[in-house]
Amino acid sequence: MSINVAIDGPAGAGKSTIAKKLAKELDYIYVDTGAMYRAMALYMIEQKTDIQHMDAVRSACDAITYSDGEQQVILNGRNVNDFIRTEAVSEMSSKISAIPEVRAKLLSLQRSLAAASNVIMDGRDIGTHVLPNADVKIFLTADAHVRALRRYEEFTAKGIDCTLENVEREVIERDERDMNRAIAPLKQAEDAVRVD
Ligand code: C5P
Repeated sequence: MSINVAIDGPAGAGKSTIAKKLAKELDYIYVDTGAMYRAMALYMIEQKTDIQHMDAVRSACDAITYSDGEQQVILNGRNVNDFIRTEAVSEMSSKISAIPEVRAKLLSLQRSLAAASNVIMDGRDIGTHVLPNADVKIFLTADAHVRALRRYEEFTAKGIDCTLENVEREVIERDERDMNRAIAPLKQAEDAVRVD
Protein backbone atom coordinates (compact mmCIF):
# COMPACT_ATOMS: atom_id res chain seq x y z
CA MET A 1 0.00 0.00 0.00
CA SER A 2 1.34 3.42 -0.87
CA ILE A 3 1.52 6.22 1.68
CA ASN A 4 -0.35 9.40 0.82
CA VAL A 5 0.17 12.86 2.31
CA ALA A 6 -2.39 15.57 1.47
CA ILE A 7 -1.58 19.28 1.76
CA ASP A 8 -4.41 21.72 1.14
CA GLY A 9 -4.83 25.43 1.67
CA PRO A 10 -5.40 28.79 -0.01
CA ALA A 11 -3.18 30.35 -2.70
CA GLY A 12 0.31 31.37 -1.70
CA ALA A 13 0.39 29.65 1.71
CA GLY A 14 3.57 27.76 0.79
CA LYS A 15 2.05 24.36 0.00
CA SER A 16 4.27 23.59 -2.96
CA THR A 17 7.42 24.87 -1.21
CA ILE A 18 6.80 22.55 1.73
CA ALA A 19 5.58 19.67 -0.43
CA LYS A 20 8.68 19.74 -2.64
CA LYS A 21 11.04 19.75 0.35
CA LEU A 22 9.15 16.97 2.05
CA ALA A 23 9.02 14.84 -1.09
CA LYS A 24 12.77 15.18 -1.51
CA GLU A 25 13.41 14.36 2.14
CA LEU A 26 11.13 11.29 2.13
CA ASP A 27 11.81 10.23 -1.46
CA TYR A 28 8.10 10.43 -2.33
CA ILE A 29 6.60 11.73 -5.55
CA TYR A 30 5.35 15.31 -5.41
CA VAL A 31 2.04 15.82 -7.22
CA ASP A 32 1.15 19.46 -7.82
CA THR A 33 -2.58 19.32 -8.65
CA GLY A 34 -2.74 23.10 -9.15
CA ALA A 35 -0.31 22.66 -12.05
CA MET A 36 -2.79 20.24 -13.64
CA TYR A 37 -5.59 22.82 -13.48
CA ARG A 38 -3.15 25.44 -14.75
CA ALA A 39 -2.17 23.28 -17.75
CA MET A 40 -5.83 22.81 -18.64
CA ALA A 41 -6.40 26.55 -18.27
CA LEU A 42 -3.44 27.31 -20.55
CA TYR A 43 -4.84 24.97 -23.18
CA MET A 44 -8.26 26.63 -23.02
CA ILE A 45 -6.75 30.12 -23.24
CA GLU A 46 -4.64 29.14 -26.25
CA GLN A 47 -7.54 27.37 -27.97
CA LYS A 48 -9.89 30.24 -27.12
CA THR A 49 -12.30 27.73 -25.61
CA ASP A 50 -15.61 29.35 -24.65
CA ILE A 51 -15.89 28.09 -21.08
CA GLN A 52 -19.56 29.07 -20.89
CA HIS A 53 -20.31 26.27 -23.36
CA MET A 54 -20.04 22.79 -21.93
CA ASP A 55 -19.62 21.15 -25.35
CA ALA A 56 -16.51 23.27 -25.92
CA VAL A 57 -15.19 22.47 -22.43
CA ARG A 58 -15.88 18.77 -22.91
CA SER A 59 -14.02 18.61 -26.20
CA ALA A 60 -11.11 20.54 -24.66
CA CYS A 61 -11.02 18.01 -21.79
CA ASP A 62 -10.97 15.16 -24.31
CA ALA A 63 -8.14 16.76 -26.27
CA ILE A 64 -5.81 17.12 -23.30
CA THR A 65 -3.24 14.56 -22.35
CA TYR A 66 -1.33 15.46 -19.28
CA SER A 67 1.74 13.91 -17.84
CA ASP A 68 3.91 14.93 -14.97
CA GLY A 69 7.52 14.02 -15.56
CA GLU A 70 9.80 14.93 -12.68
CA GLN A 71 7.77 18.03 -11.84
CA GLN A 72 7.66 19.10 -15.46
CA VAL A 73 4.15 19.70 -16.74
CA ILE A 74 3.68 18.12 -20.15
CA LEU A 75 0.55 19.15 -22.04
CA ASN A 76 -0.10 17.18 -25.23
CA GLY A 77 3.60 16.38 -25.44
CA ARG A 78 4.78 19.97 -24.89
CA ASN A 79 6.57 21.15 -21.75
CA VAL A 80 4.46 24.06 -20.49
CA ASN A 81 6.17 24.52 -17.14
CA ASP A 82 7.29 28.06 -17.93
CA PHE A 83 3.86 29.21 -19.14
CA ILE A 84 1.46 28.19 -16.38
CA ARG A 85 2.36 30.66 -13.61
CA THR A 86 1.00 33.86 -15.15
CA GLU A 87 -1.87 35.85 -13.64
CA ALA A 88 -4.07 35.08 -16.67
CA VAL A 89 -3.56 31.34 -16.16
CA SER A 90 -4.14 31.65 -12.39
CA GLU A 91 -7.48 33.31 -12.99
CA MET A 92 -8.56 30.92 -15.74
CA SER A 93 -7.53 27.87 -13.69
CA SER A 94 -9.68 29.02 -10.80
CA LYS A 95 -12.65 29.59 -13.15
CA ILE A 96 -12.45 26.25 -14.93
CA SER A 97 -11.81 24.36 -11.70
CA ALA A 98 -15.47 24.94 -10.79
CA ILE A 99 -16.60 22.93 -13.86
CA PRO A 100 -17.49 19.31 -13.00
CA GLU A 101 -16.12 17.88 -16.29
CA VAL A 102 -12.73 19.48 -15.65
CA ARG A 103 -12.55 18.15 -12.08
CA ALA A 104 -13.65 14.66 -13.11
CA LYS A 105 -10.89 14.47 -15.70
CA LEU A 106 -8.19 15.33 -13.16
CA LEU A 107 -9.63 13.37 -10.23
CA SER A 108 -9.05 9.96 -11.79
CA LEU A 109 -5.52 10.91 -12.78
CA GLN A 110 -4.74 12.16 -9.26
CA ARG A 111 -6.16 9.05 -7.61
CA SER A 112 -4.25 6.71 -9.87
CA LEU A 113 -0.96 8.51 -9.14
CA ALA A 114 -1.62 8.20 -5.39
CA ALA A 115 -2.53 4.51 -5.67
CA ALA A 116 0.67 3.70 -7.54
CA SER A 117 3.26 5.52 -5.40
CA ASN A 118 3.98 7.21 -2.10
CA VAL A 119 2.92 10.78 -2.81
CA ILE A 120 2.78 14.23 -1.30
CA MET A 121 -0.13 15.83 -3.13
CA ASP A 122 -1.03 19.49 -2.78
CA GLY A 123 -4.15 21.33 -3.84
CA ARG A 124 -7.50 22.48 -2.50
CA ASP A 125 -9.60 19.31 -2.18
CA ILE A 126 -7.02 16.57 -1.63
CA GLY A 127 -7.86 15.76 2.01
CA THR A 128 -11.61 16.28 1.56
CA HIS A 129 -12.24 14.74 -1.83
CA VAL A 130 -9.35 13.32 -3.85
CA LEU A 131 -7.74 11.26 -1.07
CA PRO A 132 -10.20 11.13 1.84
CA ASN A 133 -8.18 8.25 3.34
CA ALA A 134 -4.79 9.97 3.10
CA ASP A 135 -2.42 8.90 5.87
CA VAL A 136 -1.54 12.49 6.78
CA LYS A 137 -3.58 15.62 6.07
CA ILE A 138 -2.24 19.13 6.50
CA PHE A 139 -4.21 22.33 6.02
CA LEU A 140 -1.63 25.04 5.48
CA THR A 141 -2.80 28.61 5.69
CA ALA A 142 -1.65 32.17 6.37
CA ASP A 143 -3.10 35.66 6.47
CA ALA A 144 -4.09 36.87 2.96
CA HIS A 145 -1.71 39.82 3.15
CA VAL A 146 1.24 37.57 4.02
CA ARG A 147 0.35 35.19 1.20
CA ALA A 148 0.05 38.05 -1.28
CA LEU A 149 3.43 39.38 -0.18
CA ARG A 150 5.04 35.98 -0.87
CA ARG A 151 3.52 35.91 -4.35
CA TYR A 152 4.52 39.52 -4.99
CA GLU A 153 8.13 38.79 -4.00
CA GLU A 154 8.19 35.69 -6.24
CA PHE A 155 6.88 37.73 -9.19
CA THR A 156 9.24 40.66 -8.75
CA ALA A 157 12.22 38.31 -8.33
CA LYS A 158 11.31 36.91 -11.76
CA GLY A 159 11.10 40.44 -13.19
CA ILE A 160 7.31 40.33 -13.57
CA ASP A 161 5.76 43.79 -13.35
CA CYS A 162 2.99 43.91 -10.71
CA THR A 163 1.74 45.75 -7.65
CA LEU A 164 1.18 44.27 -4.21
CA GLU A 165 -2.41 45.59 -4.26
CA ASN A 166 -3.24 43.76 -7.48
CA VAL A 167 -1.60 40.53 -6.33
CA GLU A 168 -3.51 40.68 -3.05
CA ARG A 169 -6.81 41.33 -4.84
CA GLU A 170 -6.18 38.40 -7.20
CA VAL A 171 -5.30 36.04 -4.31
CA ILE A 172 -8.43 37.02 -2.36
CA GLU A 173 -10.71 36.69 -5.41
CA ARG A 174 -9.28 33.29 -6.25
CA ASP A 175 -9.72 32.03 -2.67
CA GLU A 176 -13.31 33.27 -2.64
CA ARG A 177 -14.05 31.38 -5.86
CA ASP A 178 -12.26 28.27 -4.62
CA MET A 179 -14.08 28.28 -1.25
CA ASN A 180 -17.53 28.97 -2.64
CA ARG A 181 -17.80 26.66 -5.64
CA ALA A 182 -20.38 23.89 -5.47
CA ILE A 183 -18.02 21.03 -6.26
CA ALA A 184 -15.03 20.09 -4.06
CA PRO A 185 -14.54 23.57 -2.56
CA LEU A 186 -11.44 24.60 -0.65
CA LYS A 187 -12.04 23.67 2.97
CA GLN A 188 -10.18 22.06 5.84
CA ALA A 189 -10.88 18.33 6.22
CA GLU A 190 -12.18 17.43 9.68
CA ASP A 191 -9.17 15.21 10.31
CA ALA A 192 -6.56 17.60 8.91
CA VAL A 193 -3.89 19.27 11.03
CA ARG A 194 -4.15 23.03 10.63
CA VAL A 195 -0.85 24.85 10.30
CA ASP A 196 -1.10 28.65 10.25
O1 C5P B 1 -2.33 25.68 -6.41
P1 C5P B 1 -2.46 26.65 -7.55
O2 C5P B 1 -2.56 28.07 -7.11
O3 C5P B 1 -1.43 26.43 -8.60
O4 C5P B 1 -3.86 26.26 -8.23
C1 C5P B 1 -4.43 27.01 -9.27
C2 C5P B 1 -5.95 26.92 -9.19
O5 C5P B 1 -6.37 25.57 -9.49
C3 C5P B 1 -6.56 27.20 -7.82
O6 C5P B 1 -6.85 28.57 -7.62
C4 C5P B 1 -7.83 26.38 -7.83
O7 C5P B 1 -8.89 27.09 -8.44
C5 C5P B 1 -7.50 25.20 -8.73
N1 C5P B 1 -7.25 23.99 -7.96
C6 C5P B 1 -8.34 23.25 -7.54
N2 C5P B 1 -8.16 22.07 -6.89
C7 C5P B 1 -6.93 21.63 -6.63
C8 C5P B 1 -5.79 22.38 -7.02
C9 C5P B 1 -5.99 23.58 -7.67
O8 C5P B 1 -9.48 23.64 -7.76
N3 C5P B 1 -6.78 20.45 -6.03
